Amino acid sequence: MNYQRVVADGLIVTPDGTVRGSLGIHDGRIAAISPDPLQGDEVIDARDRVVLPGAVDLHVHFNEPGRTHWEGWGPGSRAAAAGGVTTAVEMPLNAMPPTTTAEALSAKVQAAEASSVVDFALWGGLITDNLAHLPALASAGVIGFKAFMCPTGTPEFTHVEDGILYEGLCRIRELGLFLSLHAESHWITRHNTERLQSQGRTDRRAWTEARPPAAELEAIQRALFLAARAGCRLHIVHMTLPEGAEMIQESKAAGQPVTVETCAHYLTLTDDDLVRLGPVAKCAPPLRDRATQEGLWQDVLQGRIDCLTSDHSPCPTEDKTRGDEDIWQAWGGISGVQTLVPLMLSEGVHRRGMTLPQFATLLSATPAKIGGLWPRKGGIQIGADADLLVIDMNREWVVQRVWLQSRHKHSPFVGRTMKGWIDLVLRRGQTVAQDGEVNAGGGGVWLRSKGG
Ligand SMILES: [Zn+2]
Repeated sequence: MNYQRVVADGLIVTPDGTVRGSLGIHDGRIAAISPDPLQGDEVIDARDRVVLPGAVDLHVHFNEPGRTHWEGWGPGSRAAAAGGVTTAVEMPLNAMPPTTTAEALSAKVQAAEASSVVDFALWGGLITDNLAHLPALASAGVIGFKAFMCPTGTPEFTHVEDGILYEGLCRIRELGLFLSLHAESHWITRHNTERLQSQGRTDRRAWTEARPPAAELEAIQRALFLAARAGCRLHIVHMTLPEGAEMIQESKAAGQPVTVETCAHYLTLTDDDLVRLGPVAKCAPPLRDRATQEGLWQDVLQGRIDCLTSDHSPCPTEDKTRGDEDIWQAWGGISGVQTLVPLMLSEGVHRRGMTLPQFATLLSATPAKIGGLWPRKGGIQIGADADLLVIDMNREWVVQRVWLQSRHKHSPFVGRTMKGWIDLVLRRGQTVAQDGEVNAGGGGVWLRSKGG
């Protein structure tokens, strides 16, 4: 058998463990995994390299249509590709219109198909006035729905209070899909924000104080309760707290269908970094303290966190810098899709002993399963799409602005030394990024939910 492309002599990370050998690719799919040499029209030398499945990032905001000047599918997907994310799952927030109707979904698909370098799937939104639109969004192929329990910072994407939240959960269950939730208490965060602002506080710590762990934990607990009563599968996004992981673990143990993600920035930055770096590190929930971060790492390494995402939430740089002296004025969101994989290789695998199979589970397999994209996406196995990363594990490098592909090149990780360099990124067998350069100009396909 002669394959179109062969990735030869690498350490291949499969769902069953690691094997040293070669991969054969045919028609964009993985056709062979062999400890013996394979014949191919083109052979990629992967000696001294690790071959990982492309990452599946369940949580990115590309803001197109409507706020393309914030990011857009072109630069956003190039950032994903350069960073080893071969499947991006886009979440509504500040695109206009947000993906809360079937019409808005088709506008989103059109924009994405025109320029996405990586394959993509889409979340629908649950807001105050779109319950009637959920069935059409489900049958059009969203993987699930996203809602916020506190104000979003974007007037078009309203948060939901418990009445709509509970009814939404009941409807989404009937549709056979699931809800992902930004869990922070509206009441606690609003009260604290008003109190701190009335005291004249504009400093960076005020942002952290306005959104304490209690606000996140109360919302998670309420969400778990309502989802259990509704019988609806739940996914808690960007969870920051060991106590939260414990509550979710208890619910899982009791048989509740619930999953949880945390983001690379909660594992690599602390509240002191927000003070030091300023608005570029402002996000919600806020960065937590060092002890909390240590606890969260233990949750990741011991399997109490299901997957890792970027919550890539870009904006024009002016929307960050206008908060330099008044933290309330800055957009809250971190641009992170390009640094997710490198950060987790450096801080997870190298520094904390995360195994390569664990890495592939947290960044690829489990997010693909949560999103209904497995087994086509998320694992190096026969028949799966050949979405592959060839990694030089020992190369050290420094994040520089010029490497960033996002429209606005701000990142709290500029200047950080990383260990583990992505030599090559294949999407369905084709090279989309090589040695830090993106060399594809589109071609990503829409992955409709199987449930839809
Ligand atoms: Zn988000």
